[in-house]
Amino acid sequence: MFKRSSLLVLAMACMAGTSIAQSQPCATDEHYHQLLTHYPQLAEMEKQFNQQVTSGLAARTTASADTTWYDVPLVVHVVHDYGMDFLADDAIYEAVQNWALAFVSANPDTNVVIPAFKPYIGNARIRLHLATIDPDGNPTKGVIRHHSYLTSPGSDQSKFTPWPNNKYMNIWFTNTLGNSGAAAYAYYPSSGAMMPHYDGVISLASYLNTSKTIPHELGHCLNLQHVWGNNNNAAVACGDDQVDDTPPTKGHSPGCITSVIYDTACATGYAKMYVSSSGLLDSLVDYPDTTNSQNIMDYSYCSNMFSKGQCERMRDALTSSVAGRNNLITPANLAATGALAPMPDLPPVAEFSINKGVGGGSVTDARSLFLTYTNAAQFSFNNRSWNDTVASVQWEFSNGASTPVSTSMTNVLNRFSVPGWVTVSLTATSNAGTNTLVKTNAVYAADTTPVGTLGYAQSFTSAGDVTNWPMINYYDNQFKWEFYNGAGKDDNSCVRFRSYDTSNRRTGTAAGDYDDFVTPAFNLEGLGGDVYFNFFSTGASTSISGWGTRTYDSLQIDVSVTGGTRWTKLAAFRTSDLANNGSRSSEFVPGSTSTWIPRSVAVSSIYRNRQTFFRFRMRPGNIGNNVYIDNVGIGLFPAAVSEMASVEGNDLIIYPNPSANGCNLVFKAGNEAKAQYVVRDVAGKVIYQQAISATPNAMNTEFISRDRVGIPGMYFVTLTSGNATSTRKMIVQ
Ligand SMILES: [Zn+2]
Repeated sequence: MFKRSSLLVLAMACMAGTSIAQSQPCATDEHYHQLLTHYPQLAEMEKQFNQQVTSGLAARTTASADTTWYDVPLVVHVVHDYGMDFLADDAIYEAVQNWALAFVSANPDTNVVIPAFKPYIGNARIRLHLATIDPDGNPTKGVIRHHSYLTSPGSDQSKFTPWPNNKYMNIWFTNTLGNSGAAAYAYYPSSGAMMPHYDGVISLASYLNTSKTIPHELGHCLNLQHVWGNNNNAAVACGDDQVDDTPPTKGHSPGCITSVIYDTACATGYAKMYVSSSGLLDSLVDYPDTTNSQNIMDYSYCSNMFSKGQCERMRDALTSSVAGRNNLITPANLAATGALAPMPDLPPVAEFSINKGVGGGSVTDARSLFLTYTNAAQFSFNNRSWNDTVASVQWEFSNGASTPVSTSMTNVLNRFSVPGWVTVSLTATSNAGTNTLVKTNAVYAADTTPVGTLGYAQSFTSAGDVTNWPMINYYDNQFKWEFYNGAGKDDNSCVRFRSYDTSNRRTGTAAGDYDDFVTPAFNLEGLGGDVYFNFFSTGASTSISGWGTRTYDSLQIDVSVTGGTRWTKLAAFRTSDLANNGSRSSEFVPGSTSTWIPRSVAVSSIYRNRQTFFRFRMRPGNIGNNVYIDNVGIGLFPAAVSEMASVEGNDLIIYPNPSANGCNLVFKAGNEAKAQYVVRDVAGKVIYQQAISATPNAMNTEFISRDRVGIPGMYFVTLTSGNATSTRKMIVQ
């Protein structure tokens, strides 16, 4: 299965709020039928499930009252990027207690349920518990956190480290969701059985404890449909949810007003006949002729009740083997997950985030971890420790930090007097113990001493060559810059961005990630004429059977003359540039026949500083492939020309070409101090010719101004130097 497959989105998405009342969150029916087409076994699974449900209903009128309580272990996954999505532990604990009320009919707002439905308010007798033992048998408070770009937008790809769905009910929170207008979605048991790694609920972090969003989604996980049926289209057509005591309804868009609460459309004259096991009429129940708009499974957001019939359906789901729901409630599982045990008092988890702080004027790209060590701007280290009420913290910073130690519970501003990677240590202490996080590559304080100027070239012959070329992996994942010594342009080493996905591709798509590879400082101060930032790249796309070729990687070249506070984009190379070796069905590694492409980025005079830094910012796409970089340098000529200078045999390069403002002839002169060139039109007529002086046995540049040829069109330039003659096409625009 591949990432972002719309076929796999069998989701019951729910309205995100009244402000978007008119939107339709998703096309569930369409996806559902696609899923059925691809996975016929899903229909069989649902059939089995419905048989189990039906047998439960048949027994309803004769069996004695079911008084069993069911307990369900939960785990909450917080997928975040240190924004509002970094939900506080206490907010989660409080929300779980609130969710639980709806499943025991203890939510106080049942008192506003209209008289017609008061008799049908159901008590599901389902108790929700955060797990206290994780799948490895370690104590937990049932909340785990994942720092990831996949919080915006959230999707099935954001469902990191699902705990086994037959042991825990998984609930993920993200900053946004890919489903436009949706606050959350969940999977029915039958879909959870098909895709156990995606089973559960995913919701906006902002809906943690809002409008019974999570009880609604858990209702789906326990096989409840929307009150109008198995689709996302509220207020469109009369429908039914397979539950008798919720009358037929169109459902309602968000907005809990009187006309909605007393809506009778579709429900007038609604009654149900029941037969006994012997086939005789057992009873006739005249259900309310009003829709149950206050049901948690409507979109009205009146959300006051589950009905008795819904509670039966949820209990049936919890006693069904589909998706292993019936294992959730077993005594053995409750013991294994610690669901019934009191929440343990555990030590905190030390954690911090980093931003560029105040000082040094305007700062762009505040999340970058790079600044020159002399920079007036500072890094801000923010305490994010969690998992217990932290009583105190202890910070330690290397590299001659301006604040080498601190006990700040919030944040610490720092700059560094020693260049290089900075080690940051944070120890968090609570009544239950301590935890220390040490990051050896927390931030990079760059040296300001230039490593070179024009003519500088770096071919990364050993890992030591990248010592002052920091590679920043912002999300500590598999997609990252790294030194590589299995291939290279002129030797066997280079730098690569490993974009090829070596995972199971169920979660953690590369799309949304970005990582940086930054050069040391170059001294370009006062340089006139053309200056180029040059390098070579080679890469490929990925081809996957049945999916064709996938190439979404992009590489941006940025420049900074402010020591990293501000970066300016100079160029971007996209799929068509980067994947110059075609598509591969496996991880791309350059071979002897692979082509390295010269890349040149012109550096305008405003970026020629005593400390000019360049940055490769890679934005990998979903199912991309590796990109390799080598021979990075600064030149008067584009990389292709510099390359020519290093090989035997003279040649002629014309750039830019085509050109509207004249162009340069670049050539390697022979033994003589003179040369000449001739410009001819396509008919061979001489348009212009010029004798020029040249530096023998060296690269020379001669400018042909636009007015030498006059009329736009194609021309041929022939250059003669010593005994060598070269002719090249020149396009004048
Ligand atoms: Zn829903």
